[in-house]
Amino acid sequence: MCVDNTTQKRRTGRLAPSPTGALHLGNIRTFMMAWLQMRACGGRVLLRIEDLDHPKHKAGADVALMEDLRWLGFDWDEEPLWQTQRLALYEAAFEQLRPKLYPCFCSRADIQRAQSAPHPGEVLRYPGTCRGKPLPADADERLEKAAWRLALSPKDEGCFTDGFAGAWTRPAAEVMGDFVVARGKAIAYTLAVVVDDAATGVTDVVRGDDILPATPAQVVLYRQLGLPEPRFFHVPLVTGADGARLAKRHGDTRISAYRAAGISPGRILSALARSCGWLQKDETVSTLADLIPRFSWETVPKTPFVWDDALL
Ligand code: GLU
Repeated sequence: MCVDNTTQKRRTGRLAPSPTGALHLGNIRTFMMAWLQMRACGGRVLLRIEDLDHPKHKAGADVALMEDLRWLGFDWDEEPLWQTQRLALYEAAFEQLRPKLYPCFCSRADIQRAQSAPHPGEVLRYPGTCRGKPLPADADERLEKAAWRLALSPKDEGCFTDGFAGAWTRPAAEVMGDFVVARGKAIAYTLAVVVDDAATGVTDVVRGDDILPATPAQVVLYRQLGLPEPRFFHVPLVTGADGARLAKRHGDTRISAYRAAGISPGRILSALARSCGWLQKDETVSTLADLIPRFSWETVPKTPFVWDDALL
């Protein structure tokens, strides 16, 4: 059994899908790294359904994604958690932060206008417009919809060392500015994910590097809330031949589509494992567990993986 060096806890990873649609190859490649990293060292794997952001969610997507995961050979060590069943925990964390929060009434367009030269791929930086301002006369009504932002102090840098992507050195104030922890009563993903990972003893967070720029905010929250920080591993995404993140226009890369077409889990897993350098060109495995002894971070390329169905 492997133990985290800093916390002496059993190492714990998690799969945290959002039920916004069916799982595709991009999700699975990241989940393989998360699952194998833990299984290779005798650690635990948890499953959390990130269903906080209601509008984008599809009914039944949670059940379908668990079915896809099981079909591919994933398992988890505890009952899955749904974020919508954990609101009381998030609200308690919100209350703990409250002295440092302020309501913001700016629209996204207001913030975009205030940002002089946004760079592609960067998150929108909030310039602090509402910070320290007296509340408007009709505040009570508008607070229902206000964004609650954390007033960052210079010590809230949120810098960290990513186990895969290396050192993150840009302070949160520079990357995103005072960030949102709730909109009205709806707790933001950024806060929920920190509360959940800490409450469930997660020591290793493996996820797509699209979330990397949002991570300094999470690191700030761990430190503000006095919670133990996990180690982060942000990994490159899967793209189509055009370099854009895998999407419908690149063909149907949903696991359910391959399954319906009679393609075995082993073929899918082998193709993805080759992309991580865990198998040689013509090598194959039949199950996910076969890859446990092959897992290594050393061979995983630092660049996005370009998918093509011919790789199957
Ligand atoms: N639920 C997020 C997603 O599906 C992942 C967040 C995380 O792993 O922290 O993109």
